[in-house]
Amino acid sequence: MRVALFGDIHANLEALEVVLADAREQGCTDFVCLGDVVGYNANPSECLEIVRALNCPVVKGNHDEDAAGDHSLDSMNPTAASALIWTREQLTEDQREWLRKLRMVRQVSDFTIVHSTLDQPANWNYVTNRFDAMSNFSYQFTQVCFHGHTHVPRVYVKDSKVHEVAAESVQIEAGSKYFINAGSVGQPRDGDWRACYAIYDIDTRLVVFRRLEYDIAKTQQKILDAGLPEMLAARLADGR
Ligand code: ZN
Repeated sequence: MRVALFGDIHANLEALEVVLADAREQGCTDFVCLGDVVGYNANPSECLEIVRALNCPVVKGNHDEDAAGDHSLDSMNPTAASALIWTREQLTEDQREWLRKLRMVRQVSDFTIVHSTLDQPANWNYVTNRFDAMSNFSYQFTQVCFHGHTHVPRVYVKDSKVHEVAAESVQIEAGSKYFINAGSVGQPRDGDWRACYAIYDIDTRLVVFRRLEYDIAKTQQKILDAGLPEMLAARLADGR
């Protein structure tokens, strides 16, 4: 069984469509969403309905939480906040309710999913080094956990110590634990603009990362047409 793990879509419809088509071509029969379906880009409603129609496990991201609520976004950076205020206006009450009901952590098959980290997931901490990963591993009770949030594909392994290995293909080995960031579909930040997701083959225990080109010019034009901050269109091309 091959499972597609995808998250940080951030309302980027062109990237999401390419990822889902590729996952099906690659023989994925199951889909798992790592959160942040909305925020930043111009198609929140369309992306939400595509993910909802998959009827797959989804965990809540911080942008999902902020788009679903009515609380002040004053403490957030102004670009993200203005996109979220716009996003709130695009979503129906039914869609906001769907986002509100998403769970923070789920177990799927033999692995766990969370948007940020299992160490206080509602605090939305970023895992950017092995010390952050150590905090997660203290709360990780399955051998493998997938997450997102930083928009950077990363693989942390815990054997006799916690270390990072290249986010290429990863063979899950007995005796080790894995905390794997599947990267971002709709706003990658590792310097590579292409949409990113991961495939986990549960039978061979192999995780592979996929990078895919999409119609970025179309996504950028939609951002500008919507009156969203120009910087959100520019950053897509930089992969930052
Ligand atoms: Zn995100």
